[in-house]
Amino acid sequence: MTFDDLNLLPALLKALHTAGYERPTPIQQQAIPHVLDARDLLGVAQTGTGKTAAFTLPLLQRLHEAKPTNQPTGPRAVRALILTPTRELAIQIGESFETYGQNLKLRHAVIFGGVSQHPQVQALQRGVDALIATPGRLLDLINQGYVNLKHLEIFVLDEADRMLDMGFINDIRKILPLLPKQRQSLFFSATMPPTIQQLADTILRNPVQVAV
Ligand code: AMP
Repeated sequence: MTFDDLNLLPALLKALHTAGYERPTPIQQQAIPHVLDARDLLGVAQTGTGKTAAFTLPLLQRLHEAKPTNQPTGPRAVRALILTPTRELAIQIGESFETYGQNLKLRHAVIFGGVSQHPQVQALQRGVDALIATPGRLLDLINQGYVNLKHLEIFVLDEADRMLDMGFINDIRKILPLLPKQRQSLFFSATMPPTIQQLADTILRNPVQVAV
């Protein structure tokens, strides 16, 4: 299988070509068609399998295809939220948005704790389509009124098992009720112990499951 078989936008195929990617990895082959189909997805995959592109590519495509025309810049509701446990992962996912989205006009911001919130707030105030965040800093900025999740279209929970190991479960439980019920959710974890399965069950609706 090649990326051409996955019904991706020419703008994404061009970016993949520029990045030197030749073929989709197994998680990309299995996940991308379902995400493009607007299905919820449970992906059991470790880092290194290409899981970031497996959710980022179809997410960018869905945001692009549903984008309102003549959208003004400035503060507006976030359309996609990607929650990830660490600053390093958040930065890596941001770089993936940068690479794969280079030929699309979508905006994203990356927010994480341990640094000044000022540039992050400025990015939010310019307006973003997709927000990549660690849970604690996201809650801080929500509580200060800088993030509006009321019109969220797509929610991604990345590395769910690591989130729990790092003690983020309470933060996640505070964030979930702020998301619209009508949304697409993607859930990734390297392992699926019972607590993670329960969390997945509360987040996902009729999910497709893919495992690599
Ligand atoms: P991830 O599992 O998302 O952390 O990705 C692992 C690494 O594989 C990253 O450096 C990606 O840039 C790279 N990568 C992802 N998909 C592909 C692909 N289809 N072809 C070549 N490299 C890839």
